[in-house]
Amino acid sequence: MDTTFLQTELRYLRESGLYRSLRRIDGEQGPMLTLDGREAINFSSNNYLGLADHPALREAAKAAIDRYGCGSGASRLITGNMTLHEELENRLAGLKGTEAALVFNSGFQANTGIISALLGEGDVVLSDSLNHASIIDGCRLARAKTFVYRHCDLDQLEDGLKNFSESRRKLIVTETLFSMDGDEAPLREIVELAEQYGAMVMVDEAHATGVYEPNGAGLVANLGLADRVSIQMGTLGKALGGFGAYVAGSAALRDFLINRCRSFIFTTSLPPAIMAMGIAAIGLINREPEKRKVLRTNCARLRNGLQALGYSLGNSRSQILPLPVGEAAACMDLSQRLLDCGVFAQGIRPPTVPPGTSRLRITLMATHTEEHIDRALSAFEASKEAN
Ligand SMILES: *Cc1c(COP(=O)(O)O)cnc(C)c1O
Repeated sequence: MDTTFLQTELRYLRESGLYRSLRRIDGEQGPMLTLDGREAINFSSNNYLGLADHPALREAAKAAIDRYGCGSGASRLITGNMTLHEELENRLAGLKGTEAALVFNSGFQANTGIISALLGEGDVVLSDSLNHASIIDGCRLARAKTFVYRHCDLDQLEDGLKNFSESRRKLIVTETLFSMDGDEAPLREIVELAEQYGAMVMVDEAHATGVYEPNGAGLVANLGLADRVSIQMGTLGKALGGFGAYVAGSAALRDFLINRCRSFIFTTSLPPAIMAMGIAAIGLINREPEKRKVLRTNCARLRNGLQALGYSLGNSRSQILPLPVGEAAACMDLSQRLLDCGVFAQGIRPPTVPPGTSRLRITLMATHTEEHIDRALSAFEASKEAN
């Protein structure tokens, strides 16, 4: 078959400022990166607590390899359910205050698998318009009706719940701390609506896990809602510095997913070293609340500095600061000018965010120093003048 469509599509992407290419990182995932051979301060990573290169995680992974080897050999239901998988799940349930937890190979697999396992024809999923691509794909796979409500719009969510009151099962799904906007879902109100209309609530805590008090458990725990949110999903690859994902909830939920969730059943389980990293990371976030405190202090310093330069940062009060630009090409230009000053802040474009809302997504880490942040502010000031 003729494959010239590949070049045609790529040309279209280049012309519309949407072309993506990979940058190569040499060395570790720290607050400084070597990016395509050049040093830059890293304001684009989800390694919020600096655990990705932490000695405790390295040691835990090495010890697990020495004791258990490298691969897990099979899926969980065959011979891939190792001691460390269950130990990590118990730790996660403890962290989240739930009866049980189940580990997934990635957040993407968790979201697509969980939503499509829970729902089918005759059901409805009510989904925030800014939810992550993996949630959107989970809705598509589920063959249930999908009702997308405007970002954090409770009135529209309630309209959806009324319109679909006859559905067999209803699931509201939302991120807690939104990945590209850094704002929080109105979780208390969502839970109240869910109870009023008989819907389940599923949250994605990918960016909240590790960050919120108490103990980095997430926004659900922070608001004391663990008993009222049926499905708490999150990842181990962001603030927890490792890889993989989990869902926390009832023992029945865990059991159901083991039996029904295709992205859990039909995949080789994560290797022991990855489980050991997760266990070590949970230990660290419990033991070292200072990391979260430093992260908050760093956020305030950069946020205040950017606001003083005249930037508005949406409703973010978190470690994710969206600096609005608008058009994709202008956004990538600004990102490049900053990089020329030694500051890496990734431009985010469609389809990750809606057209016309391209932005720099600036993320803070607990391992940034005041000097890193002040150098970033100088770079922002210089690139603003160049505008
Ligand atoms: C990163 C992310 C995921 C996917 O998690 P991976 O483990 O990286 O596959 C899911 N949801 C949200 C909100 C995310 O930001």
